[in-house]
Amino acid sequence: MNGLGQDLSALLGAEKVKTAPEDLFFYSSDATHYFVSHAPDAMVLPEATGDVCTTLKYAYDHALPVTPRGAGSGLSAGCTPIKGGIVLDMKRMNGILEINRGNMTARVEAGVVLANFHRTVEKQKLFYPPDPQSLEVCTLGGNVATRAGGPRGVKYGTTGNYVLGLEVALADGSVINTGGICVKQSVGYDLTHLMTGSEGTLGVITRINVRLLPLPAARKTAIAVCETVEQAATLVSEIIASGVVPAKLEFLHKGGMGLINIFIPNKVPITGEAYLMIELDGGPAQVDEDAKHLKALCERMKAQEVRLVGSDQEAESYWKARQNLNPILMAVFKKMINEDITVPRDKIPEMFRAVENISKQVGVSIGMGGHAGDGNIHPVILLPQISDELDQKAAAAIEQIVKAGLALGGTVSGEHGIGLHKAQFLIQELGEVQVEILKRVKQAFDPKGIMNPGKIWLEA
Ligand SMILES: Cc1cc2nc3c(=O)[nH]c(=O)nc-3n(C[C@H](O)[C@H](O)[C@H](O)COP(=O)(O)OP(=O)(O)OC[C@H]3O[C@@H](n4cnc5c(N)ncnc54)[C@H](O)[C@@H]3O)c2cc1C
Repeated sequence: MNGLGQDLSALLGAEKVKTAPEDLFFYSSDATHYFVSHAPDAMVLPEATGDVCTTLKYAYDHALPVTPRGAGSGLSAGCTPIKGGIVLDMKRMNGILEINRGNMTARVEAGVVLANFHRTVEKQKLFYPPDPQSLEVCTLGGNVATRAGGPRGVKYGTTGNYVLGLEVALADGSVINTGGICVKQSVGYDLTHLMTGSEGTLGVITRINVRLLPLPAARKTAIAVCETVEQAATLVSEIIASGVVPAKLEFLHKGGMGLINIFIPNKVPITGEAYLMIELDGGPAQVDEDAKHLKALCERMKAQEVRLVGSDQEAESYWKARQNLNPILMAVFKKMINEDITVPRDKIPEMFRAVENISKQVGVSIGMGGHAGDGNIHPVILLPQISDELDQKAAAAIEQIVKAGLALGGTVSGEHGIGLHKAQFLIQELGEVQVEILKRVKQAFDPKGIMNPGKIWLEA
């Protein structure tokens, strides 16, 4: 064990500290993988807020970088410890501390895995809508730190809409409690939502208070087969404008639907270029009425086929397959770069057209999928080989996608955050004055710059 490991073990207990190279290598990247740059010097597995504070106080005194980590499922290299130091793996802090039915709120530790939390509240007929597709592994702390979204964002919004209060350990080891468990609060600056999306650069989130909703009584899934990408994109805008608000409205290219077909019993005919996977939820009568309205709208817009999925069990198989699409693609291609561009929903057809043109011009495959209902498109650069030439083409395509998205009034990240992956685009979206303000905010929270350094903006 290195000297750092010995010091931390003396403070925390050896069972909470790891320094073996094979352990540390695992912590050198997140799900982007290609941003592996630097393994940490030590990894700490805190079991309580006190352990986090002790680690931070030590790091602060020794000016060592600290990178908080949930499950490492991030897609922007947010928890990649590019300057070494200590990684704080939050997974052992996984307690669901309170579910308060009377107040419709819950209090959890930051390392709770999202799907476990969903299952726990749903047993009580309660509902926590945010549903990043990594839900079987990602943590609520990671979700808050990235302001994560998911398919249900179209109707229910994203993580930020549910966070009411946070316990945060600051860089010097002190603790603040922001917000609370009230569903409204108007007291000073909103530090809860400043921390939400701060990507581990301002402090370590240790506990989270969230708002809950009643679990919808009924759900129905529909699949629309569209002849062209353009038709599907227009249909998304028409559905939104029609007043029916689906719980999920996902877009898939035919390649994606073909992969989903492997996992579902009742195959969808691969006759079109593009597919919409839609879920309606609410009271049973409302869901039936919305389903009829949706089917009629899709037919009017000349979708090739509209399938209303018969049973809940069959519908579940579609969504499970959709959830696994990203890992399946990762197994097929040598390298995948997930973009997260988000545009106003009436601009979706233009954005899809732009991505198709960029793919042709640059000569690189770009799969398209995403939570189209909230304008969040995930163009995925699919590289069959690892080569400098393909990397250069990918970089050129990403630059053009960002330019096209911003020109349409969009944003470079709808839900994954900035991390390292999109830091070069921050100034383009926010401008120098705003970026300077972000830097000053960081300085106020983290005067020695030890919290997840090198993320969100490019260092000079
Ligand atoms: C297959 C797949 C599907 C995905 N689908 C979606 C999706 O639909 N929607 C979506 O939004 N994202 C999605 N993601 C991205 C990712 O899962 C989310 O960003 C998720 O919120 C990350 O959670 P995590 O616990 O893995 O965090 P990590 O990846 O470990 O960390 C992410 C960031 O949060 C910081 N952080 C983590 N925990 C804390 C803490 N306790 N305190 C302070 N900072 C912290 C880290 O430093 C880092 O900057 C997907 C990823 C994969 C691999």
